Amino acid sequence: ETTTTTIVKTDGVNGIKSWDEDTGSIPRLQIVDENQDFTQDLPNFMGKWSLAEAGFQYNVVAVFGSQSTGKSTLLNRLFGTSFDVMDENQRSQTTKGIWMSRGRGMHVLVMDVEGTDGRERGEDQDFERKSALFSMATSEVIILNLWEHQVGLYQGANMGLLKTVFEVNLQLFQNQKGKEKTLILIVIRDHVGATPLENLAKTIQADLEKIWDGLPKPEGLEECKIHDYFDFMFTGLPHKILLPEKFDEEVAKLRTRFNDSKDPNYVFRPQYHKRIPADGYHVYASSIWDKILSNKDLDLPTQQELLAQYRCDEISNTAFERFTERITPFKIPILEKAQTIPDLGEQMKDIRSEALESFDKNASRYHQGVYEKKRKEMLAKLNTQLNVFFVGQLKNLHKKAITMFEENLKAELKKPSYNFAEIVESCLKEADDLFVNGAKDIVLADTDWSYTHEHSQLEEAFAKVSAQARADEFKKMSKQLAKQVENELSEPVSLQLNSPTEKTWHNIIKAYKETVEHGQKTLVEKAKSFNSSDEELEESILGLKRQAWLVLRKKVDEELADNMLLLKLRSRFEEKFRYDEHGLPRVWKPEDDIDSYFRKARDDALTLIPLFAKIDLSEDEGFDIENDEDFDFKHSLTILTEAKQIDITNRFKRESDAFYLEAKRSVVATTAK
Ligand code: GDP
Ligand code: MG
Repeated sequence: ETTTTTIVKTDGVNGIKSWDEDTGSIPRLQIVDENQDFTQDLPNFMGKWSLAEAGFQYNVVAVFGSQSTGKSTLLNRLFGTSFDVMDENQRSQTTKGIWMSRGRGMHVLVMDVEGTDGRERGEDQDFERKSALFSMATSEVIILNLWEHQVGLYQGANMGLLKTVFEVNLQLFQNQKGKEKTLILIVIRDHVGATPLENLAKTIQADLEKIWDGLPKPEGLEECKIHDYFDFMFTGLPHKILLPEKFDEEVAKLRTRFNDSKDPNYVFRPQYHKRIPADGYHVYASSIWDKILSNKDLDLPTQQELLAQYRCDEISNTAFERFTERITPFKIPILEKAQTIPDLGEQMKDIRSEALESFDKNASRYHQGVYEKKRKEMLAKLNTQLNVFFVGQLKNLHKKAITMFEENLKAELKKPSYNFAEIVESCLKEADDLFVNGAKDIVLADTDWSYTHEHSQLEEAFAKVSAQARADEFKKMSKQLAKQVENELSEPVSLQLNSPTEKTWHNIIKAYKETVEHGQKTLVEKAKSFNSSDEELEESILGLKRQAWLVLRKKVDEELADNMLLLKLRSRFEEKFRYDEHGLPRVWKPEDDIDSYFRKARDDALTLIPLFAKIDLSEDEGFDIENDEDFDFKHSLTILTEAKQIDITNRFKRESDAFYLEAKRSVVATTAK
C-alpha cells in the first residue's frame, strides 16, 4: 500500500495543516466519530478543500460494502485521498466512523464509511443503517463494492445492506416530487473474468429486483419500481494483489468516469446532484445526521427547506451587516446636521444593490420558494432602513428650498427695479426645482416611496412666504404713495388757504384730483408688478382716494387750527385796515373815518369764516368719495362747526377791537403834538 496516511489534527482552523494541492496529501476529516458525534470542523475543511465557494460545482460520492473489501484502497486510488487502509500484515482495525476528503484535481467530496464487520458478527447494524441513511441523503453516487464471489449469494452480507439502502431510500424520498435518482455504481472486485461482467450484472439486477419486491412500500407507493429511484452501472476490477498492473490500468479507466464529463459513462450526471450549495453543505449534513440520531423521520424536501431558511438568514445577515456599515455615514449629516447629500439616491441604490447581489449570489442556490420569500423580506428590511434617510433628506431639502426662496427673493427685491410677481415666480420655480429634482433623485425603484405629501407641504410654505413678501411690499408701496400724496398736496392746500378766494376750494379739489391721478398711475403700474386682479386694483385706487382725502383734510385742519385761522383773519383784516389800496401803511389823520374803515375791514375778514367753514363743492359737481365704516365723505366736508365759528368770530372781534383802539390812540397822539 503506497498511500501516505497523514492524520490531520482537527482542532479548528489553526490546527489544520495547509495543503499543497499538487504534492501534499489531502487533509481528511472524521465527520462522524466513534461516538456518533458530528464534527464542528466541516466548514473549515470545506474552506481548506477550496470547496466552500463552489456553489453547485462539486459532487459527492460515498462507498458501501462489507468490511475489508478494499473500499478505502479503491477510494484512495480513484481520488488521491488518504483514508486508512487495513494493514495487510497486522489486520488491525481502522478507526470507525464516517470519513470525508476531497478528490485530488476534482471538485468531489469523497465519503468513506468505516464500520466494524458487524453483520458477520451480528452486531452494530445500527451504525450501518445510520451511515447508509446519511450517505443516501447527501451523495449523488454510491459505489457499491463487492467481491465477485459474493455475487449471487442472495443471503450474503451485501444483500442485507442493499435492503437497508432501498428501505432508507423509500423513506427519504417518498415526499419528493419529481424524485431525484441516485446512481449506484457496482464495482465487482477481484473480477477474474471467467464470468463476463454482463452476466454478473444480470444476476445482481435480478437479486436487486427480488429485494425490492420484498420491501414493504409506503402508502401510495405500492407500485413504484426500483428504477424510479436508482440507476445502475457495473464495472469489474482485477485482483489487486495478483494483477497489480491490470488493477492500476482499470482503476485509471474508472477514474475518468468521475473526472471527465465527456466520458459516455460519466457518473456525476446533473440529474443526480442533490442541489445543496457548497456553502450550506455543512449545515445540511450535520442537520441530517442530527435527524438520523434522534430517529426522526427524514424528509429531504423539508430538510432542504429548513436548510434554505437557515442559510438564507445567515447570508442575509452577513449582507445586512455590510449594508449597515455602509449606510451609517449618512446618519450625522442627514439626521443630525440637517444637511443634504447630493448623490444620496445613487449611493442608496448602490448600497442596496450590493446587499441584494451579495444575498442573491449565495442564497439563490437554495430552495426557490424560500429564497424568494427571504429576498422579499430582505428587500423590505433594506428599504425600511433607507427610508429613514429618504424622509430625512426630504425634510432637509424642504428647509433648503425655503431658505433658497427667501434669500433669492430678498436679493431680487434689493435691485433698483423689478416686477414683483415675476421675481416671485422665478425664485419660486428655482426653489421648487431644487426640491423636486432632489426628491426625484432619491426615490428608489421597488419601493412605495413618494414625496407628494412633502411637496404639497412645501408649496404651502412657499405660499406663506410669498404672501408675506407681497404684504410687506404692499406696505412699502403704500408708504411711498402716502408720502408722494402728502408732498403733492401740502403746498397747494397751504397756498390756497393762505390767500383765500372764491376759487379756493375748487383749486384745492383740483390739486387733490391731480394728486390722485398721479397716485393712480403709480398704482396701475404696480398692479402689473403684483399681478393684481382688477378688483384688487380698484380697491387700491379707492383706498388711495380716501387716503389722499384724509391727507388733505389733515392739512386743512392744520392750516385752520384756531391760531392759524385767527392769523389768517387778522392778516386779511390788517391788509384792509392798516394798509391803503397801494399796500402802504396807513397813518391815521383826525379827519379819517376810522370807524367806517374798521367796520369794512372787519366784515371783510369775517367773510373768511363761512368760506373756511365748509368745503365748497359748488364748482365740482358730482365730486364724491365712496364711504366706508371709517370714512364719511359728507361729514368730512365740514371744517368748522357752528360753535367754532361763533367762538372764532368773538375772539377775532376782541382782537380787532385792539387795533381799533390803537388806531384811535395814534390819532390822539398825533393831534396832541
Ligand atoms: P475496506 O475495509 O473495505 O476499506 O478495505 P481496505 O481498503 O482497508 O482493504 C482491506 C484489505 O484488502 C487490505 O489488506 C488491502 O490490501 C486488501 N485489498 C485491497 N484491495 C484489494 C483487492 O482488489 N483485492 C484483494 N484481494 N485485496 C485487496
Ligand atoms: Mg476502509
